[in-house]
Amino acid sequence: MSKMRTFRVSKPAAKLELVERDVPEPGPGQVRLRVEACGVCHSDVLTALGLWPGITYPRVPGHEIAGVVDAVGADVPAWKRGDRAGIGWHGGHCGHCDRCRRGDYLTCRSGVLIPGIAYDGGYADYVVAPWVALARIPDGLTAAEAAPLMCAGITTFNPLRHSGALAGDVVGILGIGGLGHLGVQFASKMGFHTVAIARGKEKGPLARELGASVYIDSKEQDPAAELQKLGGARIILATVTNAEAMTAVIGGLGPDGKLIIVGVPPDPLSVGVGPLIGGRQSLAGWPSGRSIDSEDTLVFAARSGVRSRNELFPLERAAEGYERMMSGEARFRVVLTA
Ligand SMILES: [Zn+2]
Ligand SMILES: [Zn+2]
Repeated sequence: MSKMRTFRVSKPAAKLELVERDVPEPGPGQVRLRVEACGVCHSDVLTALGLWPGITYPRVPGHEIAGVVDAVGADVPAWKRGDRAGIGWHGGHCGHCDRCRRGDYLTCRSGVLIPGIAYDGGYADYVVAPWVALARIPDGLTAAEAAPLMCAGITTFNPLRHSGALAGDVVGILGIGGLGHLGVQFASKMGFHTVAIARGKEKGPLARELGASVYIDSKEQDPAAELQKLGGARIILATVTNAEAMTAVIGGLGPDGKLIIVGVPPDPLSVGVGPLIGGRQSLAGWPSGRSIDSEDTLVFAARSGVRSRNELFPLERAAEGYERMMSGEARFRVVLTA
């Protein structure tokens, strides 16, 4: 039996530890992926600190996985050894609840199966996962390019494409971090009038380089007033985890405007609802997407040139990569490579 490296958390708040294990065999409906790259996402903190209900330990984190199908279990249609594939937040679903029967796997009544939480994830040489979790990686993307798109990418791409905004509409992206730097690129490539909002004038040139037409420095400017000067935003995608920063932009929504939240702030939002009623505005959340949505994200990125900016760490330095992500200093995503 050949061995593989895994970086696992033995119990909540324990440090990542290197453990060698037998390479697992895929069961019925499962494939084994040889991991070529795995993004380090802030949500890996859920595994590291035991913040997700029902998680069992030890557990290998990682839900931004890109690699090559290495072995195929029984009853797996359409996938074969050598196929390139990614696995993201949607790592499986029950398949028989009313939500799954409607194809809405992210709202599965049993809970979506998240790699690195429900089963061992991508901080390892190999991952075994249900085939329904797989997204095909197009030729135009390397594994390190594809990996962060499996969570950070789809988390910005999917709500934007379902937002109802039309080409030319004002779309604000709040925050230019791991998620936001992708959100700005996607919004711009989708043809929206893209407005990046962040703190500090030094981020202006970067925002424009990523495709923003307008940059609002929320340190110096009132972002709500600036958005209103543009006619009001049809959509604002909030990628930050700061409730205050979110409430500061709500006044920038135009008629039928919507604030779509994909970052979880520790504090509740405090919102005056009068303007929401008058302008038929709304606040909404959005949970990434299904594996087929990941595939769409990868294809769109490959064709349009959207790329995550990554700091690469070899797998053996996974603990360092995780710390780098947690520092908030990474520009912009940390990716572990085989
Ligand atoms: Zn993630
Ligand atoms: Zn279900």
